[in-house]
Amino acid sequence: MTKFNQSEGVTSEYEIEEDDHHHTHRPLFRIKYRSNSIVSTNFSDTGSISEGLPTIKVLGTGGTIASKGATAHQTAGYEVDLTIEDLISTIPDLSTTCNLEYEQVLNVDSKEMGTPELLLLHSKIIEDLSKYDGFVITHGTDTMEETAFFLQLTVNTNKPIVLCGSMRPSTAISSDGPMNLYQAIVIAANRSSRARGVLVALNDRIGSGFHITKSNANSLDTFKSSNNGDLGHFVNNEIHYYFPPAKPLGITYFHLTAGSTLPEVPIIYAHQQLNNRLIQLAIDELEAEGLVFATMGAGSLSAKTNDFTGRLAHSRGIPIVYSKRSQDGMVPKASLPVQFEAEDGTKSPFLNNIAGGYLNPQKSRILLQLCLRDRMNIPQIKDCFKGVYGG
Ligand code: ASP
Repeated sequence: MTKFNQSEGVTSEYEIEEDDHHHTHRPLFRIKYRSNSIVSTNFSDTGSISEGLPTIKVLGTGGTIASKGATAHQTAGYEVDLTIEDLISTIPDLSTTCNLEYEQVLNVDSKEMGTPELLLLHSKIIEDLSKYDGFVITHGTDTMEETAFFLQLTVNTNKPIVLCGSMRPSTAISSDGPMNLYQAIVIAANRSSRARGVLVALNDRIGSGFHITKSNANSLDTFKSSNNGDLGHFVNNEIHYYFPPAKPLGITYFHLTAGSTLPEVPIIYAHQQLNNRLIQLAIDELEAEGLVFATMGAGSLSAKTNDFTGRLAHSRGIPIVYSKRSQDGMVPKASLPVQFEAEDGTKSPFLNNIAGGYLNPQKSRILLQLCLRDRMNIPQIKDCFKGVYGG
């Protein structure tokens, strides 16, 4: 049993018990608060999920929220250096809101998140799903939207799963980490957050993980779903949702089993004078099972690139998703080239292309990976993308 003093200015103490009955290498901690430094919410009595207080699990994965810089003004070039236990110790007492448990699943910058890390996080949530009323995941902001989207498609639950992070490291003046973590836990513990899909909570905004994207590389107010808007706000310790509970349209759920992996699907960023050999390299050298284009505009690729891709896609039998460079808007089915030209000038129908709808390239990639993992054929994949107004 360890006793901690909370950070300067907050006087309460709490106990942490290490619980190793799960026999994992990652210790699980339960917090028992002894006193209330701050009455954390005025709606927990009406908003709690179970009869008593809900139990919320916080899963730490790293990111800027878990980082330390060398000075108080350093906001770039810092390293992940704090554990989830350290982060929990920076927020006020939540004992009137929920029972809190936490676990370090990973501790990396989110640029290091990849298929093994996503699958680990997924299996942890599936393992814990029946034991908790909601989850909070601390995560780097750079790829948070990908993890949120992946979890939305692979964890079918009405329990709140709330991702949070910060744009400033813990050592920076006005670090946003503690407030974002605090808000995310209160949001996860509140009944009104159920059945809304995976949520992203930063900077007082609550957004849909399915729709949200990181819009600004530096500012605190970075997460936007400009096509769809925020789901709600967190202001003065109150949650305000703008709509009744609903999950986004267009979700296809995929059931992942232990030992799953995801196929190679690169993204090619289109631009003026795109060298088509890059496409060939991506498919051949990487043994790609599918490809996503960040097209110019609403599905635009040069005629040469369309023809080159059509020939390759048909000879290899792989799907090609047309997504977009633009943050907003969509690639409709009508934008897809209907045929491609062979070297000898003969034309064939281009059947392997798929419109990404409103999904950005990184989210299109995840959906395509999951479709390919389920061994879907082109019409089945098109059906999944129809849900996001592509196909
Ligand atoms: N580099 C950080 C990351 O892990 C950025 C952040 O968390 O804001 O994504």
